[in-house]
Amino acid sequence: MQADIIIVGAGMIGSTLALALQDAGLTIKLVDAGPLDVQPFIPTDPFEPRVSALSAASQRILERVGAWPGIVERRVSPYRDMHVWDGSGTGQIHFSAASVHAEVLGHIVENRVVQDALLDALKGCDSIELISARLEQLRQTESGWTLTLDDGQQLSAGLVVAADGANSAVRRLAGCETREWDYLHHAIVTSVRCVEPNQQTAWQRFTDDGPLAFLPLQREGDEHWCSIVWSVTEGEAQRLMALDDEGFRQALGRAFEYRLGEVLEVDPRLCIPLRQRHAKRYAQPGLALIGDAAHTIHPLAGQGVNLGLLDAAVLAEVLLSAIGRGAPLGDPRVLARFERRRMPHNLSMMAAMEGFERLFQADNLPLRWLRNAGLKGIEALPEAKAMFVRQALGLSGDLPDLARL
Ligand SMILES: Cc1cc2nc3c(=O)[nH]c(=O)nc-3n(C[C@H](O)[C@H](O)[C@H](O)COP(=O)(O)OP(=O)(O)OC[C@H]3O[C@@H](n4cnc5c(N)ncnc54)[C@H](O)[C@@H]3O)c2cc1C
Repeated sequence: MQADIIIVGAGMIGSTLALALQDAGLTIKLVDAGPLDVQPFIPTDPFEPRVSALSAASQRILERVGAWPGIVERRVSPYRDMHVWDGSGTGQIHFSAASVHAEVLGHIVENRVVQDALLDALKGCDSIELISARLEQLRQTESGWTLTLDDGQQLSAGLVVAADGANSAVRRLAGCETREWDYLHHAIVTSVRCVEPNQQTAWQRFTDDGPLAFLPLQREGDEHWCSIVWSVTEGEAQRLMALDDEGFRQALGRAFEYRLGEVLEVDPRLCIPLRQRHAKRYAQPGLALIGDAAHTIHPLAGQGVNLGLLDAAVLAEVLLSAIGRGAPLGDPRVLARFERRRMPHNLSMMAAMEGFERLFQADNLPLRWLRNAGLKGIEALPEAKAMFVRQALGLSGDLPDLARL
């Protein structure tokens, strides 16, 4: 079967790209190995442990592809402030949306909620065919690529987009090289209920083991819940995962300095090994990599989905402009434009996260002094703070039209 574009992976990033191209007059096939049915949403259901901190730029992209109303209808938790402090010093920074006259800094949304809202939007699109199957083989042809799926189907297109996540099969089968390294850290994620309300604030404490984030969640008006992302060494992760709920609640409360009082309740925990990975190229003839297939980044600043949504929006923009000029979609010059716009931005964000990680892991005194002085210094500089806030809103740099006001 022939299509104009085959997108492998209908996760948050692949689905967004498909929706951004829905009116381009193309035949699009969106292939995913996982379940593509939308779960009925029950407002009293427990929170899903995996959440994303969506920036204002991401919100705009999701609005323009028609998924934002479905997200708001389900469950979304705005955050207006961010409080970051050093657990082994006195340095701290407070960011607020009000400081740049914005209403919110972003929204914490469960990944399942974003995914289901996107699937709902996709179901109404005639130009997009959703195919529930796993990619097994990939072969380059004269006019593009031929894919073989695990149900025996063969699909061909002039452009294949890899949106199949961190362990991308497309990337592996096409022989795309990556640079990767382990952070030697694991992230424990879950939802917790605290004594104090979360104050619509994203809290981040840098501990000697790694960063601990409490992100505000809201369920039926109850603001006492938070999603936590606790990055620790592998040994510490094993110890924390082996604790019973009571022991974990106490360890977590202590590590968070009881900023929101005692931790009263903990949902089941997930432990995720952290690995940074970056594809050396995002494009080759007839092939483009987006989202986690192109880059995975430390969850420290919650930027993974935000970077991926910008990849999807920029690739859509570049392809729409190619259609306008009558250029073939898989043309290396077309795809090089996408790579040129996205790679420097993703790399600089990854380098910044890496620097932060090292600084806050540092056990030696000069570096500890530096991070404390750095936090205090930034706190005292309204201009520098405003720059950070704009970065958190995702409103700096080369923005695609879908992310602009
Ligand atoms: C602990 C943790 C916390 C995080 N917190 C944040 C945060 O706060 N904010 C943020 O922005 N990001 C965060 N991230 C990152 C974020 O979760 C990822 O960036 C995001 O999920 C990537 O989306 P994606 O669509 O590229 O890939 P995925 O979500 O991995 O989707 C890939 C899709 O491809 C499909 N697939 C895979 N292989 C095949 C195949 N062979 N054939 C067909 N289909 C296939 C899968 O079924 C899946 O649907 C966090 C990550 C971690 C680990």
